[in-house]
Amino acid sequence: MKVLKFGGTSLAGRQRIEAAARLVLEKVKNGRVTVVASAVAGTTNRLVAMARTSKGSGADWKKEARAIECQHLEILEGLAAPARQAAERSIRAVVGGLENDLQILATDPADRLEVADRVLAVGERLSVQLLAAVLQSLGCASRTVDAADIVVTDSSFGGAKVNFEQTRRKCQRVFAGRNTATPVVTGFIGADTHGRTTTLGRGGSDLSAAVLGAVLDAERVEIWTDVDGVLTAPPQLVPSVSSIPWLSYEEAAELSFFGAKVLHPQTVRPLAERGIPIRVRNTLEPARRGTEIAAHSGTRSRVVAVSAFEDVTAFRLRDGFLAEVGEVLMSCCASADGTTLVAVPSSGAETLIGRIQGGEQFAASIVTLVGHDIARQPWVAGRALESLARRGITVRSFAAGASPHAVALLVDRGDLENALCTVHDALMLDRETPAVSRRDPEPAKKEVRHVSAA
Ligand code: ADP
Ligand code: ASP
Ligand code: MG
Repeated sequence: MKVLKFGGTSLAGRQRIEAAARLVLEKVKNGRVTVVASAVAGTTNRLVAMARTSKGSGADWKKEARAIECQHLEILEGLAAPARQAAERSIRAVVGGLENDLQILATDPADRLEVADRVLAVGERLSVQLLAAVLQSLGCASRTVDAADIVVTDSSFGGAKVNFEQTRRKCQRVFAGRNTATPVVTGFIGADTHGRTTTLGRGGSDLSAAVLGAVLDAERVEIWTDVDGVLTAPPQLVPSVSSIPWLSYEEAAELSFFGAKVLHPQTVRPLAERGIPIRVRNTLEPARRGTEIAAHSGTRSRVVAVSAFEDVTAFRLRDGFLAEVGEVLMSCCASADGTTLVAVPSSGAETLIGRIQGGEQFAASIVTLVGHDIARQPWVAGRALESLARRGITVRSFAAGASPHAVALLVDRGDLENALCTVHDALMLDRETPAVSRRDPEPAKKEVRHVSAA
């Protein structure tokens, strides 16, 4: 069985949904498939905004809820009656629930986070209806599955943690039956043990696919997105990127942790533990091979990609305040008075500022070089630092050695783009960089990336 996950841009509009459905149809010919769908591009952002601003009489959010409903219903236009009518009914019911929840949020309830998660979950609850209906119209028997019925999480609304054992038991019950219709599962969401809807954190549909891949013991998980697999750098920031044909689990995990949005940071681990390969591919260019992520089997090291964690706040903390720090991206302590420099995601910096007294802070970004065992190769850090020095870019801190597969550089926020392009071109485009022997016998074909205009 294969798990196929389609991201929001792959489902943006009827044409793209049909293209995704045709890919599913092809795969179904060769075996069972479980489909995981994200919300249609832009929908979750709109829901987040609605949840934040739903106050008073609700004229604005009611209009927005109707607009989301219309957008989804329009996509169904022209489909044959039975599949279309069932999907239309479900879409109207989901939007009805959304309006109720926004009404509740307007009263500022005590369980605000719980209700907000139900609001955020609406995007996926709508998109699965579209994909399942289009699949049926192409002659592929399909059914929607709400992940709240199969993915069991804790009750941390907004960023729930999955309980794999309980999820496995539920999945076995739901998937073991005689129903051979291809399941189309809502990504991004689950439910706690009281049955309350939770969400797994933004970008969490990749994680949903990984969870299902792991508990259903899939032969592979395919992440279908809008670029040619994992690229050598974020394409919006670096013009000279190319597609990476092959990555180890460790390399992919480091890249996603340090900001490569193409994979949710928690996607790799459950699949790596079971040796299930991941393929990242482009829905808009399905003939391209994309990126295969599997166990490392090369013998030599090189930098395979550079990632950017854009929105970072760096603090110089005196002894005693370290215990206050939550998620740390990077830290460095090399000073006579015990001062430690820590870099945290800016999203978590505000609470820290409230708790520490004094101490310098600045807006920063982290540029991370990733490649198997590169932290032990002296030429990697040397070449990166030298290239930045030539451009006059100051490295505010440097970290290597915690992971053998990553070297991190802290730069001022304003220097990010320049630093990223510089390091990328110095290490990725440099022909003298030691070549790696990969298990993949095919020569690494350089594929031109394709970023959708959507
Ligand atoms: P989806 O909707 O398919 O989940 P996302 O927007 O979450 O898509 O992730 C894909 C996007 O990730 C790409 O369009 C690209 O802009 C961004 N991205 C950032 N870093 C990388 C990278 N190293 N490789 C590929 N894409 C990246
Ligand atoms: N729709 C959710 C989001 O926008 C989950 C995802 O796309 O993976 O964050
Ligand atoms: Mg994504």
